[in-house]
Amino acid sequence: MGKVIVFTKMKGGSKMAGYSIRQIEDKAAEVLKQCSMNNEIPVDPVLIANELGIRVYAGNFIDQNMSGVIRKDGSNIEILVCEDHHVNRQRFTIAHEIGHYKLHIDDQLLNKKDHVEYERNNTYNAEEAEANSFAAALLMPREALLDEYNKCKPLLEYTDILVNFLAVRFKVSEQAMQRRLSDLGLISLGW
Ligand SMILES: [Zn+2]
Repeated sequence: MGKVIVFTKMKGGSKMAGYSIRQIEDKAAEVLKQCSMNNEIPVDPVLIANELGIRVYAGNFIDQNMSGVIRKDGSNIEILVCEDHHVNRQRFTIAHEIGHYKLHIDDQLLNKKDHVEYERNNTYNAEEAEANSFAAALLMPREALLDEYNKCKPLLEYTDILVNFLAVRFKVSEQAMQRRLSDLGLISLGW
């Protein structure tokens, strides 16, 4: 193995390139299109990772705070995800790591570094937020979500039921669905 270079996370404020929400939405839509996921839900992040040439493994981390990691060694790229977590959380973690791959591990970096690694743990910074936004856009694609949301019009008065129904439909946590609906301006969280 060549020299190991760990790509450390940049602190907030020192970030070189940030993405707008619109750019992140577009990147996620691009990936769905590239992988021929034509509005099929629930989206399968493992299938998408595989289509992108990334292998996905489930297992246990020694560090209890770890949800997942994406790492590249030479030409090999893999995502590891904590198998003890709820399946919906595992799906979000995998989508999050795909986000790092598309947003932060660009071709230039791939060619220059032997080893690149991103972890999902309890730390929070701009890149983590971007990867989370990407994961939300990948697992709850805007158009597909709007379609399902519009079918649920009778439930609009009952936000909890609506969120639960859509969370089950898209195989995400209720928290993730609530956040996504709020971000898209479809429900209001301010009460
Ligand atoms: Zn991350």
